[in-house]
Amino acid sequence: MDELRIVDIRPTTVTVPLKAALRHSNGCHWGRFVRTVVEVETDQGLIGLGEMGGGGESAEAMFRGLLPYLKGHNPFDLEALRWKIANPTASLYNNRTQLLAALEFACLDIVGKALGVPVYNLLGGKLRDEVEFASYLFFTYPVAGRAPVDVRSPEQLVEYARALKKACGFTSHKLKGGVFTPDHELDCYGALAEAFPEDKVRFDPNAAFSVEEAIRFGHAIEGLNNDYFEDPTWGLNGMRRVREAVNIPTATNTVVVNFEQLSANVLDPAIDVILLDTTFWGGIRPCVKAAGVCETFQQGIAVHSSGELGIQLATMLHLGAVLPNLTFAADAHYHHLADDIIVGGPMPYKGGKVRVPTGPGLGVELDRDKLATYAELYREMGGYPYDRDPVRPDWYAMTPNADWADPKTEYTLDLGGR
Ligand SMILES: [Mg+2]
Repeated sequence: MDELRIVDIRPTTVTVPLKAALRHSNGCHWGRFVRTVVEVETDQGLIGLGEMGGGGESAEAMFRGLLPYLKGHNPFDLEALRWKIANPTASLYNNRTQLLAALEFACLDIVGKALGVPVYNLLGGKLRDEVEFASYLFFTYPVAGRAPVDVRSPEQLVEYARALKKACGFTSHKLKGGVFTPDHELDCYGALAEAFPEDKVRFDPNAAFSVEEAIRFGHAIEGLNNDYFEDPTWGLNGMRRVREAVNIPTATNTVVVNFEQLSANVLDPAIDVILLDTTFWGGIRPCVKAAGVCETFQQGIAVHSSGELGIQLATMLHLGAVLPNLTFAADAHYHHLADDIIVGGPMPYKGGKVRVPTGPGLGVELDRDKLATYAELYREMGGYPYDRDPVRPDWYAMTPNADWADPKTEYTLDLGGR
């Protein structure tokens, strides 16, 4: 086979509906995700798929702007790809880590397709055929015209978790907090742990608590069946203080997201479990590398979700398949999606697990009709303010936060029937 050459990079931004508006400490996913699908085309007709969150038109422009850097690049040259577009000193001006990630996914997809092997075989081979996921529970706003999902109280949360457990088989439950007062969220988290005594639980308020509040909250949940206590507060030093005071493993997807921070955490531990995100770390390969460092220093790992459609989920599945030290369930927003842009529709969960795709490359194919439909929907609707709460338009998040939403406020998000 002649060497492959990249000839084009085609980004397409889509918006795909969620079953509900998912609330978090910074605001809300307003009933949908905005993602940019990237197709990297080679001179021999092979096309690789990548995906990145947010950005919309600006993300598309950034991908297009990288074509002059990558025209003629051999997709097998993955290490050169990193240095060409994400050299760390050049990146001081122009950080392209997340763009690199999407392009790495696409190049791995091309390499796998060219060789007729799944991506996991390029990463050391799979150790498991399916990857386990946690339920990833959010407080929500229902969306007008969709089946109502209204989660604000402990009772609603438990009912919601039961429904998701029944549908997908989850045995680990993650609560995304940082929305209501810590006391209200303590009641919710406690009710969840009590409702599923056989299952594991994990809590993540996205660094909304002060160190002192995090320690108070941590002491109150110490007796529960916790996987870990994820980003209760901001910063390595804050997390170190929480870790010293609370007898629950700490976890992060915010303050250890590169090798510099990983080495700082090895030298003076603040985090027990590093949550590896294929986008934040700049690709699947750096996550595998980071997992190796964690294995060496006996730090835990799990697979993080920054919000994904099927292409990105495939990257998480290939990653999860090859990590020897993966002992925790992975996170995914995936089951909150109402649809997907891959052939065959959303990948199914069975027993809380998703099968690792076994086709060549990432093992997922674009559904061109769905891509066109959701690209059109994006053109109609544009982006959404991820860091705003539709009920409190003047509010903005601070770390630590002290201005919480009121769980008694009933609200239905109206997206005009779309
Ligand atoms: Mg998190």
